[in-house]
Amino acid sequence: MFDTVLIANRGEIALRILRACRELGLQTVAAHSEPDAALRHVALADKAICIGPAASAQSYLNIAEIVSAAQLTGAGAIHPGYGFLAESAAFAEAVEDAGLVFIGPSAEAIRTMGDKVAAKRAMIAAGVPCVPGSEGALPLDEQAVRATAAAVGYPVIVKAAGGGGGRGMRVVREERELAEAVSLAREEAGRAFGNPQVYLEKFLEHPRHIEIQVLADRHGAAVWLGERDCSMQRRHQKIIEEAPAPGIAREAIAGIGALCANACRSIGYTGAGTFEFLYEDGEFYFIEMNTRVQVEHPVTELVTGIDIVREQIRIAQGEKLSFGQDDIRIRGHAVECRINAEDPFSFRPHPGRVERWTPPGGPGIRVESHLYSGYTVPPHYDSLVAKLLSHGATRAEAIRRMGGALAEMEAVGIATNAPLHRVLMEEPGFAAGGFDIHHLERLIEGGLLDRRGSNDA
Ligand code: ADP
Repeated sequence: MFDTVLIANRGEIALRILRACRELGLQTVAAHSEPDAALRHVALADKAICIGPAASAQSYLNIAEIVSAAQLTGAGAIHPGYGFLAESAAFAEAVEDAGLVFIGPSAEAIRTMGDKVAAKRAMIAAGVPCVPGSEGALPLDEQAVRATAAAVGYPVIVKAAGGGGGRGMRVVREERELAEAVSLAREEAGRAFGNPQVYLEKFLEHPRHIEIQVLADRHGAAVWLGERDCSMQRRHQKIIEEAPAPGIAREAIAGIGALCANACRSIGYTGAGTFEFLYEDGEFYFIEMNTRVQVEHPVTELVTGIDIVREQIRIAQGEKLSFGQDDIRIRGHAVECRINAEDPFSFRPHPGRVERWTPPGGPGIRVESHLYSGYTVPPHYDSLVAKLLSHGATRAEAIRRMGGALAEMEAVGIATNAPLHRVLMEEPGFAAGGFDIHHLERLIEGGLLDRRGSNDA
């Protein structure tokens, strides 16, 4: 098996992967873009190799360059992290074709789950509940589309089969808006994702976002590691995640978790993965599967004590899962705040030089960040610069600890959204838990940030 892992990513997740490799006694290669030579994991890796200029298309998305970087440096495996090429079936295939190990599921599983119509079909076959909607992609015949929408019941949402990142979706409230919405969605989907197929679902008005973490080895074993509630979102971007999900019966979670683990076995899924659901009125509805490690994975690590990245690598090494479903216990409560380099009130990105970085600490606090004093956050990439995590015996304790951590954290020189998180830690709806995915947008529309601004003045 491999003894060296090439890390095809940047920022906090690259550092996270490097740490897991070290623990497993593996050598690391940091493949980085030109402006990323100063990243923390580049300094810590056994080897570093520049794979191109700042533009992702020429570096972190450059399949040929990354594969040849692995060959040049003697790496036997590639960890894609999240984002960039993590869900590219073509990348997984190129890695395997080069005789290297892709730390993730098979190219085939990525391809199936990346096509939402195919993914839904696979989930229905595996007995996982899905949002009621069209059977497969919508036909071109307008009358058939109208009949489908009427059968599902308005409002409906038109979604792109190849969609991602919350793009390419349209809500339709009445039949007279349908035909135009479908044709616009097709056009957009063709342009943005190279696949004009669209499908239709019932539009849920006030769902929560609940997801199930799974791990599956290459010997047929699959487990689920509890759930995460990621309902605190702005423009479909998660900003706070927690586990367990407040107010949902353990038996309901266990039921859906078991279905997810079963689905992994029936589709031959291997590695780490996440089944995303909308949850409304006591029912779970599958929306998509992420075939990679997620930003919010440490929330689950805190409550289960399982190192998900280490398990990912062990699975890729051909090892069996070292624990079974009955060994998994959920302890206490964990919360994650995504710290972005952005203005907390306008949400505009705010890269720049970090004059001083002081991470918080203390009982139950975990920080995942590549920041250090003197580091310059480049403008080219995602604005996530740190993840603050807190763990407590109870949800209230985890939230109190997070409040303290946010007050302690210091990133002088860049703006971050820490002030927004501080407001949210004290917001009654958050304190109560169980809010829907529109909660934050409603708060912002209600002037949450304006009030904060005037308080500050
Ligand atoms: P993407 O891959 O683009 O993120 P998803 O299918 O995961 O697409 O949907 C993204 C978001 O869109 C969801 O988190 C939810 O906010 C909203 N959404 C998707 N499908 C529905 C639906 N049927 N009803 C209500 N909201 C939906």
